Amino acid sequence: METRGKEQLPDLRAMTFEETAALIGSMGEKPYRASQLFGWLHARMAASFDEMTDLSADLRGRLAEQTRLVTLEAVEVKCSAKDETKKFLFALPDGNIIESVLMKYKYGWSVCISSQVGCRMGCRFCASTLQGKTRDLSASEMLEQIYRISVLEGIRISHVVVMGAGEPLDNYDNLLRFIRLLCDPKGAGLSGRAITVSTCGLVPQIYDLAKEDLQITLALSLHAPTQEKRVRLMPIARKYPLPEVIKACRAYEQATGRRITFEYSLVRGENDTDEDAAHLARLLRGIRCHVNLIPVNPVKEREYRAPDRRAVLAFQNKLEKSGINVTIRREMGTDIGGACGQLRKSYLEEKEKE
Ligand code: SAH
Repeated sequence: METRGKEQLPDLRAMTFEETAALIGSMGEKPYRASQLFGWLHARMAASFDEMTDLSADLRGRLAEQTRLVTLEAVEVKCSAKDETKKFLFALPDGNIIESVLMKYKYGWSVCISSQVGCRMGCRFCASTLQGKTRDLSASEMLEQIYRISVLEGIRISHVVVMGAGEPLDNYDNLLRFIRLLCDPKGAGLSGRAITVSTCGLVPQIYDLAKEDLQITLALSLHAPTQEKRVRLMPIARKYPLPEVIKACRAYEQATGRRITFEYSLVRGENDTDEDAAHLARLLRGIRCHVNLIPVNPVKEREYRAPDRRAVLAFQNKLEKSGINVTIRREMGTDIGGACGQLRKSYLEEKEKE
């Protein structure tokens, strides 16, 4: 950190266009400078003020003094030998480390981003929550995961999933700011439809999100068809019981017209029986939705195992027969740090040893 208290300065890359314009105005600059600056930050994804060559050296100097430009540094990139998946470990300005994943699909490049450093939701099968939450990510730190990958790889990112470490709805204001900036046509200009936000089921925030007039997809981490089973896997279910979560999802679907994705991590002996599939089908009756089955990724600190392939297919089959739209999550990059948050965790453990 160059100057003490630098973190107190306004976070330039987290400012809306209107806020950027107000700042530029207050610095005595012409209004079109705001468009140039915003374009550098969000369309050209500049890593430093030096790149902004059509701004005067004087303005760049004053911006560098009066504001903070958040740019992430890739400290490690792991490429899968099996597919085109890449995992990125980024250092944040304060030295914290986060993980992001780049995946290739038929329809384009998708990035899975983190929304917090760690997580405090405590899901039993998840590696990201083992050490609790360190802090929320700012909107700029969420955007930067996408921007840096885009620049490093020289590609256009077409889809973003907020499914990495952290609970996005536990960082609501920054998440909304992030989505609005990402969708700004003067910046990266993604469509809301290209963004998926995954939540463990924070009910009040699901209702709030339904009112925001966004076209994003909501993914709900369900993982069990009954309250009793869900609470064993997800402690947050104690605070927000299953019937309330489902009610909120129905309300979201009706308010937005967007089909909900239900994520269901299959855990052997916990939630993978025929009876579970039948309960699940009944639970989701009448909701326009899609179920994504994820054979659980074993985390070394936990006992959980995935069912065998046959059992996964049987579960899918049973749901389909009840008229539910189901896909099985394609496993990607399993050779480069398996489950969510595992690469970051092993990196931090290595550093500790050194
Ligand atoms: N907090 C958000 C987003 C992060 S997790 C949420 O809970 O949805 C993204 C998805 O991966 C969630 O559905 C989560 O439950 C699931 N997940 C986490 N660890 C997993 C593991 N080891 N195996 C399979 N799915 C996992």
